[in-house]
Amino acid sequence: MITRKYPLEKVRNIGIMAHIDAGKTTITERILYYTGKIHRMGEVHEGAATMDWMEEEKARGITITSAATTCFWKSHRINIIDTPGHVDFTMEVERSLRILDGAIAVFCAVGGVEPQSETVWRQAERYKIPCLGFVNKMDRVGADFWATVSEMRKKLGANPLPLQMPLGKEDGFQGVIDLVESKSIFWKEEDLGVTLLEKEIPSSSREEAALNRKNLIEAVAEFDEHLLEDYLEERPLSTERIKKAIRRATLQASIVPVLCGAALKNMGVQLLLNAVVDYFPAPLDIPPVSGTDPSSGEEITRPADDKEPFSALAFKIVSDPFVGKLTYFRVYSGALKVGSYTYNSSQDKRERLGRILEMHANKREDRTEFYTGDIVAAVGLKKVSTGDTLCEEKYPLVLESMLFPIPVMSVAIEPKTKAEQERLDLSLRKIAEEDPTFKISQNRETGQTIISGMGELHLEVLVHRLLKEFKVGANVGKPEVAYKEAITRKVKSEGKYIRQSGGRGQHGHVLLEIEPAERGSGFEFANRIVGGRVPREYIPAVKEGVREALETGALAGYPVVDVKVTLYDGSFHEVDSSDLAFKIAGSLALKNGIQKAHPVLLEPIMDLEVVTPEEYMGEVIGDLNSRRGKILSTDLRGSSWIIKSTVPLGETFGYTTGLRSLTQGRATHALQFSAYEKVPGNILEKVVKHY
Ligand code: GDP
Repeated sequence: MITRKYPLEKVRNIGIMAHIDAGKTTITERILYYTGKIHRMGEVHEGAATMDWMEEEKARGITITSAATTCFWKSHRINIIDTPGHVDFTMEVERSLRILDGAIAVFCAVGGVEPQSETVWRQAERYKIPCLGFVNKMDRVGADFWATVSEMRKKLGANPLPLQMPLGKEDGFQGVIDLVESKSIFWKEEDLGVTLLEKEIPSSSREEAALNRKNLIEAVAEFDEHLLEDYLEERPLSTERIKKAIRRATLQASIVPVLCGAALKNMGVQLLLNAVVDYFPAPLDIPPVSGTDPSSGEEITRPADDKEPFSALAFKIVSDPFVGKLTYFRVYSGALKVGSYTYNSSQDKRERLGRILEMHANKREDRTEFYTGDIVAAVGLKKVSTGDTLCEEKYPLVLESMLFPIPVMSVAIEPKTKAEQERLDLSLRKIAEEDPTFKISQNRETGQTIISGMGELHLEVLVHRLLKEFKVGANVGKPEVAYKEAITRKVKSEGKYIRQSGGRGQHGHVLLEIEPAERGSGFEFANRIVGGRVPREYIPAVKEGVREALETGALAGYPVVDVKVTLYDGSFHEVDSSDLAFKIAGSLALKNGIQKAHPVLLEPIMDLEVVTPEEYMGEVIGDLNSRRGKILSTDLRGSSWIIKSTVPLGETFGYTTGLRSLTQGRATHALQFSAYEKVPGNILEKVVKHY
C-alpha cells in the first residue's frame, strides 16, 4: 500500500501555449523564478532561458521540445509541460495538450490574436482543455488589453472573462485592478516584482472597475444559480464564492479568465500563478481516462485514484546527455514504487521502472514512488515509443494513442566520411525514437538514406541537432516533397509464381480486387477466400507481399496510399506452396493491378496564412498565385490583412525568405499541412520525368 506524500487536489498539470514571440519563454522563466526554483533570470536573447535546454533551441531562441518541469506555489505542485510555439511543431503541441489539464494562452497585447495562436487554440478546444488567457507585453507601445480580449471573442469564438484591468498602459503600465477582490496591485521594481503592493482602486478608475466587476459577476452567475439569486437580491457575495463560480465555469471550458501583465518587467506573473491554483483543475476534476481492453476491445475507464490499477501514457522520449533515454509519462491512475514492473500494453512488453526522475528547472530528483496525476520521467526504458500505454499486467488497458501526422517533406542525407555511417544511422534512429513525425527510409535504387519530416524547419532543426548534439558530419540534399500515389479505378488482377524445375517447385497464385479507398485511409486488406482455395496460413504472406509492393508506385515510384485490396481467389499446391511463393504472387498481382488502375500522383497541400500590412497585399497575393496558391479569404484586422490560402508544399520552399524580402520583413506567416491532393497534369510531367 502506497500512501501519497501530497494531496492530489493540490496538483496542477499545465501548459503554456503562445504564438512565437508572445513571451512564453519569459513567462515560464519568471514562473520558475518566483516559485523559487531558479535564482537568476536569464533573458532569452542571452540564450540562458531555463527551459531552453537543448542546444538547438538556444541557437534559435525558440522552444521546441516538451520537457516537463515541476515547481511549487502556495502548497500546490505545478507540473509545467512545455509546448512549442512554432506551427511546424504542431504535433508537439498536440501531444503535450493531450496530457495537460489546463493551458495558459499567452497573447501579445500589441499583436493580439495571431494566426498561429488560432491554430493552437483550435487544438486546445479539441481536447476541451480549460484555458486562462494572459495578455502579455502591456508595457509595449500600442498595447491594448481590451482589444485583445475582444479579438479572443471574435476570432477564437472564446468567451473571455477579464478578471483584471490594467492600470496605465505602455510605458505607464504599473499595475492591475483585481476585479474579483476589488483592489489594485502594484509591483516593486527593486525586488523583481516579488513584493506585491496592494492598494485601493484609484478614484479615477473606480467607476470603470465597478462596471467591469458587475459584468464579471453576471457572466459567472450564469454557471451558479445560487450566486445568481443572491446577486439579483443584492446580497453580499464573498470573494470565495465568486472564485468558486469562476473555477466551475473554467473547468467546464465555458469561460476563459483573462489576466494581464508584462513578464519582462516582472509584472503579473505571480497573479497568474494564483489563478492557476484557483481556477485550473486538479487531476481529480477532469473526467476519468478511458481506454480499451486489449483482449476484448471493451472500453474501460479509470478514475484518478491511487487505489486504482496503474495506467500511464508515455508522451515524450528524449535522449538526455547525462542519463540517456528518458521517457516522460503521465500517470492517470494508480501508484507504484520505483523498481516495479510495468506492462507496455501497446507493444505487449514488460519493463522494469528502475529509476524515476522528477524534473526541475535546474535539477533532477530521484523518486522512490509515484502517484496518480504525476508527470515524471523513467530512465532507460528500452522498448517504449511515444504514445504507448504503461499499465498493470493484471489489469491491462490501452489508452487512446496519439495521432501522428504523416511526414510531407524529405531530404537525402549521407555521412561526410564512410567511417561516420554507423554513427549517423544510430543518431537518426535515436531522433526517430523521440520524434514520431520523423521517419528514416532508404532509397531503393541509390541506397541513400532519406529522412522525412513535417516541413522545412522541422528537417532543418533535426539536421542541425545531428551536427551539434550528435556530432555527426553529414551532407544534406535538397528538400523534396514526399509525394504519394493513389489509384482511381477498381481492377481485378492475377499474380502467379509457379515454378516446376525438378525437385521441390514453387506455387503461389492469387487473384486480387484492388480499389481506391477514402483519402487518408492508407492501406486496407480484406480476405474473401472461401473453401480453402488459398490456405489460411499463407494469407499473411500474401498481405505482406502486397504491402511491400505498395511501397513503390507505378507512376513515379512513390508509395501508394488509400487502397483497399481484397484477396478473393487463388490456388495452391500441396507440396510446392510456401510463404515465399505466396508473398511473391501477392506482390506480382498488386504490381500488375495498379498499372491498370489509372494511378495518379498526390502532393501535400498546405494551409498558409499570411498577415501583412496593406501596402504589400498585391505583392503577397501575386506571389501566392505564382506558387499555385488558392486564396480562400482576405480579412482586415486593425491595419493588417490576413490572407488565408492553400498552397502545394512543393511551392513553399524558401517561403520564409521570399516573404521577408517581398514585404521588408513586415509580414508573418503560418504554414500547416492540410491534405494530400492530386497533382495537376503539367506538374506531374516534371515529377515523373525526374523519376
Ligand atoms: P516566446 O517566443 O513566446 O517564448 O517569447 P519570448 O519569451 O522569447 O519573448 C519574445 C521577446 O519578447 C523577447 O525579446 C522578450 O524579451 C520580449 N518580451 C517578453 N515579455 C515581454 C514583456 O512583457 N514586455 C516586453 N516589452 N517585451 C517582452
